[in-house]
Amino acid sequence: MAKNRVKNWQIQREMVYPFEEVRPQKQFAAVFDINKCIACQTCTMACKHAWTGGRGQEYMWWNNVETKPYGFYPLAWDVRILDSLGQQNWEGNKYTGKTIFEAAPRGEVAAGYIPEEMDWAYPNIGEDEPHGHIDQGEYITVPHKVWHYYLPRICNHCSYPACLSACPRKAIYKREEDGIVLIDQKRCRGYRDCLKACPYKKVYFNSETGISEKCIACYPLVEQGLQTQCITTCIGRIRLNGWIHTPERADPGNPIDYLVHIKKVALPLYPQFGLEPNIYYIPPVHVPFPYLRQMFGPGAEGAIKTYRGAYSDTTFLGVLMLFGSMEKWVAGFKVEREEAIAYDEKGREILKVPLKESAFVRPFWDEKLGSFRHNIT
Ligand code: SF4
Ligand code: SF4
Repeated sequence: MAKNRVKNWQIQREMVYPFEEVRPQKQFAAVFDINKCIACQTCTMACKHAWTGGRGQEYMWWNNVETKPYGFYPLAWDVRILDSLGQQNWEGNKYTGKTIFEAAPRGEVAAGYIPEEMDWAYPNIGEDEPHGHIDQGEYITVPHKVWHYYLPRICNHCSYPACLSACPRKAIYKREEDGIVLIDQKRCRGYRDCLKACPYKKVYFNSETGISEKCIACYPLVEQGLQTQCITTCIGRIRLNGWIHTPERADPGNPIDYLVHIKKVALPLYPQFGLEPNIYYIPPVHVPFPYLRQMFGPGAEGAIKTYRGAYSDTTFLGVLMLFGSMEKWVAGFKVEREEAIAYDEKGREILKVPLKESAFVRPFWDEKLGSFRHNIT
């Protein structure tokens, strides 16, 4: 297969990819704020009820939430890929190691593997298991010496999808109108080359039907101007859908561009894999930086510093207030008079959220009822 060179802004260099660079008119994206995830798995169940309740889908979780560093779905997915890439150096913001396309064995599109059936059987393995230990007499410091965090994951609807590039049947396609990556169920013959190539292991094989399936980004909702199921049902309000542009076309009035390109607070998952994934994460503030750098790239430290300053930056705070506040797709935003205002694609106002919620403190002694009251915060 001919190998082209394409521009990958997340690793700040050109890289090898089997096809030419083609950008969709709009690119589906989302930001997940890890600091707010409580691993309630509401997103996981919402997705399951919507899409994977059928035969052969019993162990299929298009949305999963795993505890890092010891949780994996499927088992050891990221450590296996990281191992196969060898040393992953960055020079500043430029990645100088190999992507999965550049590390591909001869005759293959990408470095990868097909998980064993049992690797999918324990989606909650390692849940709540912390890393590290506390010596006698120690007290809490930040970053924490003992830590874990929750990593919610869906298909990244990558700009350079490995699944698509590996399919010998050309059954996988990226929609021009929104960049959503889909498998044509009629063309798929279940060869699983897509599953082998996807480093995030977000393609699943249905052994009942003999074909592969994956997250469809709730496209019937997206087409109606609504956010996905996993996003609107999120209890922690950690997620926000939107369109993303490349950095040179970044629009400061677009919430995703603002968080990713302007504030640089939301980062891609394992950018060194080379797929330009489009789910972005605000990294957890309590975790040692070397681990975060490996997972989110060299911007992790700066992102946390910026995040910590959110309270004194009303525009930034305003965008964070829009997370989980409505079902509609937010195409634009503005912060005015202590309110975050969200707009739809046509520039119509769809919601206003106050930056500070009002609080009412009741008197401790209630004269009328002759009783003491306790305020609960
Ligand atoms: S995350 Fe995997 S399945 Fe999803 S588009 Fe990227 S390569 Fe394909
Ligand atoms: S619903 Fe939200 S808070 Fe709950 S596990 Fe999913 S991402 Fe985390």
